[in-house]
Formats: sequence, C-alpha cells, structure tokens
Amino acid sequence: MSCEICGNSIRGVPQVVLVDGAKLRVCNNDAKLGTAIKETVRPQGFVPRPVNSPLFPKFDIIEEELELREDFGTAIKSAREKLGLSQDQLAAKINERASLIRHLETAKMKPDDVLATKLERFLKIDLYGAADSDLEV
Ligand SMILES: [Zn+2]
Repeated sequence: MSCEICGNSIRGVPQVVLVDGAKLRVCNNDAKLGTAIKETVRPQGFVPRPVNSPLFPKFDIIEEELELREDFGTAIKSAREKLGLSQDQLAAKINERASLIRHLETAKMKPDDVLATKLERFLKIDLYGAADSDLEV
C-alpha cells in the first residue's frame, strides 16, 4: 500500500486522515497534513471485535473479585516469622507502623489494596484467595 499523498509505500498500518473532505490513506509523515479520523485500517487477518454486540456478551471485562483470605493475619504472621523479623522490623521494612502490623496479624484490621500488595511482595505470600481449599491446584 502506498501513501495517497506522497506515494511512498506505507510500512505497517496506514493513517486515515481527512484532507479537503477526502479520506486518504497516508503515511505517518503526511498524517499531520489532514484531520485524523478514527478509522485506522486493520492489518490483514485482524478481525475486529464487535463492540456492544448482543451476540458477544462482554465476558472480557468481567474482573475477578479478589477477596482477602480469611486467615490473612496468620499468613502475615507466619511469613514474617519465617523471615525472622519482629513486628517492628517488618513495619520498618515496609514503612508502616508496628501497631498496624499487630492489628493485621490479629485480624483486627484488614489491609487495603496498597498495603496488601506491599505485604504480598515483601513476604512473598498471597493474601487474596490462596487459602480457598476449593480451588484446584
Ligand atoms: Zn506520505
């Protein structure tokens, strides 16, 4: 395919722009000469996914609801002990207060997403759903 403005062959996906009311397929260089229209030409073999089609329910946007495992306190505690850290030491490592760690380990408080992720990374544990014995391994 060649650019309809300069005639150079277009590598990859041509830009579709509006120039004086005409839709042209142009190279990246000439794209700025026209008004970009939201209609890029798909590479061959690419089948566009129908949007809002009732035939295709939106399975792909279902996000898995992750639930904090019930024994998150125990999980944090045992992982911390495995690392040989005290609550204070762990708190210092992840820039939190020791009282927070205590609350978490006794399940008086649930970690928010950010804190949970921090703990998961640092302690190398899975705080979401891993304790669910119904899950297949
Ligand atoms: Zn061009």
